[in-house]
Order: sequence, then structure tokens, then C-alpha cells
Amino acid sequence: MDRKRFAEKPELLAPAGDLARAKTAVRYGADAVYLGGPQFSLRSRASNFTLADIAEACNYAHERGSRIHVTVNMIPHEEDYDGLKEYLEQLQEIGVDALIIASPAVMELARTYAPKAEIHCSTQMSVTNAEAARFLYDTLKIDRVVLGRECTLEDVRSITAASPAEVEAFIHGGMCVSYSGRCTLSNRMTLRDANRGGCAQSCRWFYHLYDGETELSTQDSLLTMGSKDLCAVQEIASLWEAGVRSFKIEGRMKTEYYVASIVSGYRHLLDDLYAHEGELSSERLEAHRREIMKGENRAVWNGFYGGVRGAEGLISDLKAGNDVNHDFLGTVASYDPADGTMIMITRNPFDLGETMEVLSPGQENRTFRISEFKNENGEYLEISRQPMKELRLKVPFAVRPDDILRRSREDDH
Ligand code: SF4
Repeated sequence: MDRKRFAEKPELLAPAGDLARAKTAVRYGADAVYLGGPQFSLRSRASNFTLADIAEACNYAHERGSRIHVTVNMIPHEEDYDGLKEYLEQLQEIGVDALIIASPAVMELARTYAPKAEIHCSTQMSVTNAEAARFLYDTLKIDRVVLGRECTLEDVRSITAASPAEVEAFIHGGMCVSYSGRCTLSNRMTLRDANRGGCAQSCRWFYHLYDGETELSTQDSLLTMGSKDLCAVQEIASLWEAGVRSFKIEGRMKTEYYVASIVSGYRHLLDDLYAHEGELSSERLEAHRREIMKGENRAVWNGFYGGVRGAEGLISDLKAGNDVNHDFLGTVASYDPADGTMIMITRNPFDLGETMEVLSPGQENRTFRISEFKNENGEYLEISRQPMKELRLKVPFAVRPDDILRRSREDDH
């Protein structure tokens, strides 16, 4: 490793589908958050942001030294230009730091109507070579290129060496089985346009496979075309050394728990790499990978960073699907140091005697055995089965509001 490369930390960029998730991402260590408004964005169906929410997200992030990037990355048809100029002006007025755009024409509009915001070329433009990055910089004056997820590590090295614009690369989350943005499966099968925010993820459905009249699949072995999710823990030091400026986590449709877990995991990994100038033992890297995977519930691989490969990246059958290893038990509402108890808001069931893990921003995770808890009426309980209930629990260390509580499925319960 070239240690000098690790003198500056890259950005950790997290997804958010609503204001609560944006704040969670910032609290758990994201240097920047990307989100979409109600229009002009892919994943617009997943967005719960109003302009007022985007303004609040900007204020919250800026007060804590983080940035807000807003996606305006649909591939527009004629009617999609209605209101676009006004929307760009409003985003600039709100103070968003960057716009993620997939259309050269929209980039030109953004230069005119939101000139203070950076322009980031969306992954939908499938930049997988240095010439493309240079062309976009020369002609459209983009500030950043978000690489296609189809890049190998060698591609990334070539692009970062030659690109005048800074480079952002995905490190975690969902992959398209097609080139991102060059897929019409959803359009054909559901009339929902993947490039205007409507992807129904048709590649992840289960399919019957026929050879002529003969079905090759069975009810137990229906096939999907979906890709495994990306997890680039093993490649992250190489990406950093190559000069990638921003590490992006995918998942604007994911839960608050997922955002907290994955952002927290990568925050610790990046800080550890920074402290050790890019040199971590394989055991240490594996410990970080295990920590990150506590929040993941899908099969993962290292994408195309290891080279262009075939079926190993596919979730070809039902059995290769979910692999939940931790349960989200709830969040902390308050902590009382006088008697060492916290009020928690429940999500999933748990029992007395089980081990609970606490995720607090900026701290190593801590665990404790649940020795005593009671309900709102002060009655002692042995089991908790109802979500969104307030419970008071003994806890042997200080916790903070909004800390995440979870349980390993491998523990002794
Ligand atoms: S259907 Fe699948 S491959 Fe196509 S755009 Fe949607 S997620 Fe990507």
C-alpha cells in the first residue's frame, strides 16, 4: 500500500429514504447523505422527502459537518421537464451540496438554474472508462463522476489516474443484474419505468424455467435473475489507494436499522484504515466484515471489482436468498443515570435473559444480558411480544436516545 494515499479520508456516502433515515445516517458517521425528492428522481416511489424535509436534512447535516446530495437522475421524457427548472432553483435555495444527474440536458439546466450546487454524474450513465469521465468533465463540467457498478478494480485505477473530476464508487448494497439504467424488464412486465423511478425489481422475481415444453425448475427451485448485493470490504483499501474520493452505500429503500448498521460498520472500517495507513490484518478486516454483515440480510459478493465473472454473482435460486443473522429489537428513547435504566421502544420480540447489543454512534458496540424489564405500568415482564411499546430495562452502561438495540440469532436464546 502507498501509505501517503491514506493521509486523507474519503467521504462515506449513505442513502436515505426519509428524513429520519437521513438523520440516522449522519449520526452514525456518514460524511454525506444522498436522497431523492418527490419528483425527477429514480426511486421516487421510495422517497418520502418534501422540499421542507430536504431543507431540514440540509440544516441537520450542515450543522454536523456533513453534506446532502439530491438525486435528479431520471431519464426524462418530454413531459418530465415540467417544473424542472423551478425545482432546481428551489434545491439551490435550500442549500443542497450536490445534484446527482443522469441526463446531459438536465446537467446543462442545473448549471443555469442551480449553479452553486456540484454536479455529480449518476451511475445511470455507466461510466466504466477514463475517456468517458474526461469527456463528461470537458463538455459538461461535472464535479464528480459516480462510476458504473460494472467497473473492475483495474478500471477504477485507470479512471482515477486520468479523471479530472473526482471519483465516487459503490462499496455496498444492491446491484442491477443489467447495466444500471439500461434495463427495461420492469417497463415491459409492469409498465413501471425503471428509468423514471418505477423499477419493480422484476429481475428479483421467481421464474419457472422451461426447455421447450419441459419445465427444468420445480416449486422448490424456482429461478431468479437477481444479483447478489455488493460488499467491498476486501477491496476498500485498494479503492482508497486508487484515489476514489467517495465510497457510496446503496439502499434508499432500506430501513433505518439497515442504514445505522451498515453506515456504522463502514465508519469503523474507514477510521481503522485511516489510523493504520491502509494496512489492516486479514483478521481485522474479517472482524469489520462480520460487523457489517450483522445489518445485511441478503447474499453478498464483491461485485465486479475482482474481475468480470458469471453466475457466482447471481441469486439463482430460492435457497440462496436471505440470511438474517441479527434482529432489530428497538431503539432507546431515554436513559436515566440515577437508576441505570433506559426506556426503549420495541420492534421485535425478546425474552428476559437474552443478550442485547447496543449500537451507539462513534462507539464500539456493547452488549448486556437483559436482567430485568418492566412495562409502562411498572409490572415486571419475562417476555416482550408487542412492537412500538415503551419498556424500562436495566442497562449496565450509559446509552443515548435513538441508539439501536439488536440481538444476535447465534446467541444463547
Ligand atoms: S429490473 Fe432489476 S436489473 Fe432491471 S433496473 Fe430493476 S433492479 Fe435493475
